[in-house]
This record gives sequence, C-alpha cells and structure tokens, in this order.
Amino acid sequence: MSRHISVLMALAAFVVAGCREGPAPDGKPLVVASFFPMYEFTRQVAGDRAQVVSLVPPGVAGHDWEPSPQDVAQVRRARVFVYNGAGFEPWAEKLIKEAAGPSTMVVAASTGLTVPRTGGDGGMDPHVWLDPVLAQRAVEVIRAALERSDPGGQATYSANAAAYGAKLAALDARFDAGLRNCTRRDVVVSHAAFGYLTRRYRLEQIAVTGLAPQAEPSPAVLAEVVRAARTRAVTAIFLEPLVSPKLAETLARELGVRLLTLNPVEGITKQEVADRIGYIDLMTRNLENLREGLGCT
Ligand SMILES: [Zn+2]
Repeated sequence: MSRHISVLMALAAFVVAGCREGPAPDGKPLVVASFFPMYEFTRQVAGDRAQVVSLVPPGVAGHDWEPSPQDVAQVRRARVFVYNGAGFEPWAEKLIKEAAGPSTMVVAASTGLTVPRTGGDGGMDPHVWLDPVLAQRAVEVIRAALERSDPGGQATYSANAAAYGAKLAALDARFDAGLRNCTRRDVVVSHAAFGYLTRRYRLEQIAVTGLAPQAEPSPAVLAEVVRAARTRAVTAIFLEPLVSPKLAETLARELGVRLLTLNPVEGITKQEVADRIGYIDLMTRNLENLREGLGCT
C-alpha cells in the first residue's frame, strides 16, 4: 500500500473517530483496559493507533478495586473496553452494565481459555495471563477486537500483535527450556495464581491461600501445606510482591526454607512504571526465581 493511501485511510479513520461518540481528546480512539496485564497486552497491540488507559492504577492489585465516577465516565467514552473476565474483576461486570453504551465494544481476553480452578469449587481460574502460551491467545483476542472496532487500523494492529506475539513465544521457549531439568517440581505459593503456568511447564502448584490474595487460610489448610512441603522436601516458598509477606515468613521459618518472589502480575508498582518494566521483564524474573527455588540447571 502506498504511503499516500495510508495517509488517506488514516484521515478517514480520524474523521470516523471524530464523528462517533467517544474519541480521546487527541482524536485517537479511547481504549480502556481493566488492570495491568490487560493494559500491557492492549497497549502492545494498539501502539500509537489508539489511546490506551488502565483503570486500576499502579501499586494496586486488580482483585480488590472499585471504580470511581470518573472511571465510569471514562468507560462511557471508550470505543473498546478490555478486561480479563472469568470472575477476576467482579467490579468490571457491574461497570459494563452501568457504563458501556451500544458503541462500546466489550472484550473479555480470557474468553475460551479458562479451565476450572483446582480444588474444585466450580469456579473458573482467571489467571490465564501467567501462561505465556495463553497470553499469546489473549493478545489475539484483543487484536481481533481492536480490528473490528477500528478496521482502518487493521494492518497496524496485525503487525503489532505479531511482533508482541513473537516476544511471548520466545518467553515461552525460555520457560520451557529453563524449567526442563529441575531437582524439584513443587511450587509452594501464597495464592493460587499459577495453575496455568505450572501446568504448562510440568510443575505442581501448592497454594497456601485461595484464588484471591486477601483470602486468609484456615489453620487446617496451613497445616496441610506444612505437611505437603515437608513430605515433598520443598526448599523455597514463593510469595508475591503486593501482599503482606507475614504468612509466607511464618511458614518459611517453620519449615526452614527460603523465600523467593513469584509475581502474579496482577498489578505493577509506580517504581516499575518509572523503570519501564513490563510483563515480559516481570515474567523473566519469575523464571529466574523459579529456577533458583527449584534447583534447575
Ligand atoms: Zn489472583
């Protein structure tokens, strides 16, 4: 396609955006994402073509958050609303009913990717973004939605999604190779966010709390984790950066094991934003810590 036609198409898209309800102040379509990984994947696909904002701010985890009236107004202006779904953002379901108009395209990135959580209470495990293979599929779901909402940007969205998808595929290859030869395969974590990740790389997740980080484990659950960790000769416990480490410290002391960080990437800190740390960087650190804690060569 000639440069001339691209410019014309961009102009046409601009005019369409300008006529519809909901363009961002600078004329680009406004795309609102629920929390950090959705924001990161959407931003990677959109590039400069759309204005992408995250509802949940840096420093806050996506499980427990409530939208303000300003957030509701922003969703009302959005061309596309991207959320994970599968119950991860209970507030988003409410927000969609309240704010998403007929011109807002609503996308649940985990559509078709979830399986029931282990432990079996019937609910789905929402944490698909922690598996680099499922993350690639979520990126494709987001790409398709952006293309439908803004057909003039198809070439851009498609090229961006392919480039980011290749980085995620490389991340998957590093996890696969890096976790192949390990002394131990049991991963004791503070909340059950790593079901997809551990399944993908033939590891086993032993979760101290439930699916949400704020759920306090009962003494019976704790006793079971201690027993499992002793039986399986675990030498490290993995905790997440955004929750209180008190529980994991108690366990680590009782079992005489090390504490390592395993980030569920449910949020990002202000410092990480300032340092331009993204999903792939956080996942690379996760891989390093898993390799260390599991004794991988
Ligand atoms: Zn979680």
